Amino acid sequence: MGLVRNAVTQGRQAIEYITCYLKEKQKSGDIYDVLIVGAGPAGIGASLAAKKAGLKFITIEQNDIGGTILNYPRHKIVMTQPMDLPLHGKIKFRETTKEALLELFLGIIKKSELKINTNEKMTALAEQGGTFKVTTSKGEYLSKTIILAIGRRGTPRKLGVAGEALPKVCYSLLDPEQHKGNDIIVVGGGDSAVEAAMALASCGNKVTLSYRGDALSRIKPGNRERLDQALTAKKLTLLLKSNLKEIKAKEALIEVDGKLTAMPNEFVYIFAGGELPNEFLRAIGVRVEKKFGTA
Ligand SMILES: Cc1cc2nc3c(=O)[nH]c(=O)nc-3n(C[C@H](O)[C@H](O)[C@H](O)COP(=O)(O)OP(=O)(O)OC[C@H]3O[C@@H](n4cnc5c(N)ncnc54)[C@H](O)[C@@H]3O)c2cc1C
Repeated sequence: MGLVRNAVTQGRQAIEYITCYLKEKQKSGDIYDVLIVGAGPAGIGASLAAKKAGLKFITIEQNDIGGTILNYPRHKIVMTQPMDLPLHGKIKFRETTKEALLELFLGIIKKSELKINTNEKMTALAEQGGTFKVTTSKGEYLSKTIILAIGRRGTPRKLGVAGEALPKVCYSLLDPEQHKGNDIIVVGGGDSAVEAAMALASCGNKVTLSYRGDALSRIKPGNRERLDQALTAKKLTLLLKSNLKEIKAKEALIEVDGKLTAMPNEFVYIFAGGELPNEFLRAIGVRVEKKFGTA
């Protein structure tokens, strides 16, 4: 819980570290003190902290302000922890909605007169005698330090099963209300999968949540409670120890306890995590270590 809070805090702490580092370097004309890549919670936290610290900085974002929050389903309940936003102060709530959280961040950005260059993607990074040259889709910048606040979402991980390329297969759910009365399989055992399954079920769809593990042990307590209520009310079906084996136009083959079952199916939502942009990170000189197979 509190991943948004953690991201904001990490962004703020990165600037504290950079401020100390810069004290040892001289201020110079056209060179930024810090260039921040990404305007999700971490990039916003870093940008506010950079402004507060009086640094010469620039923030670029390849899409729009908000990062992953923009990809949450409409009206999603966001569970977080109290956080400290530079130039704004403490934010005490633990539960809010996607829309309210975005409004809060955008309001603070406006009030703080923070300029974020949206629709500008970093494409390359090179070091030149202790300074970084950053190439973006719109130009080039020189900066003494860089904060990569690019998130962990990267590219959605695929299952690698037959039929996954069918247009009925999706990796994010923006608007659950686009479905009504559909047979839908949601694959995954984390918060994203559970939230999507509950949102789709509450819109009058027949939803099966399929997870290969024997328990949903990683989900937030609030989601656990809501899921238990939905299961008791038979609003959706949970298939543990199940593996989606093949997706066809009108059905899906799921293996449960070693037995293959064909289920009627119109849409499949897969939430199997994301793969970090490791190639991009390596190309710009960031070392990516793997522990237990995970970066
Ligand atoms: C479905 C879902 C539900 C979630 N629910 C919750 C919740 O209830 N509570 C909670 O605390 N957390 C939740 N999280 C997690 C939370 O959203 C993330 O931990 C948080 O957004 C991370 O912030 P970030 O700034 O590090 O990364 P992100 O929010 O991913 O932002 C990274 C930004 O970097 C930009 N970027 C990437 N590469 C480049 C580039 N080359 N050039 C320019 N810009 C670039 C991206 O466009 C993006 O805007 C959820 C996540 C998902 C997917």
